Amino acid sequence: MNDCIFCKIIQGEIPSVKVYENDRVFAFEDINPIAPGHTLIIPKVHAENIWEIPEEDLAAIHVASKKVARAIREALDPIGVAALQLNGRGVNQMVMHYHLHLVPRMAGSPELSITKWDLVPGDMALIQQTGEKIAGAIR
Ligand code: AMP
Ligand code: ZN
Repeated sequence: MNDCIFCKIIQGEIPSVKVYENDRVFAFEDINPIAPGHTLIIPKVHAENIWEIPEEDLAAIHVASKKVARAIREALDPIGVAALQLNGRGVNQMVMHYHLHLVPRMAGSPELSITKWDLVPGDMALIQQTGEKIAGAIR
């Protein structure tokens, strides 16, 4: 896509700190890192979100995430790595080219806001009803 910042990164028109690439995916450091080592993995072929991305690219990203997460663990020795992926402006997707965030957390560093929420028990009837609605739409 012409005006897509991540397509430009893949094409080398915008600089990036690359950590890995293969025929389908490209991984690089986020320039607004939530924590040191915050890495993005993207498909080389433009797709906006989880609804658009071909299954082969989706699979390739997740296989690559294992390789990159292993490297993050070896290089940085974090106490954990969060994987996060946003779809749609309603959940604050800012760059409309599919990307998986890998965010390490180092010992002694503050809790990551993306991994911390209050566990409030839900309404089981509503959970059941919603689950059935989704299950009925699976194809
Ligand atoms: P989001 O779309 O909200 O999942 O996040 C987009 C992410 O892309 C943000 O974490 C940005 O910091 C990151 N980002 C935007 N432009 C660049 C860039 N040129 N190089 C690296 N990361 C970027
Ligand atoms: Zn793109």
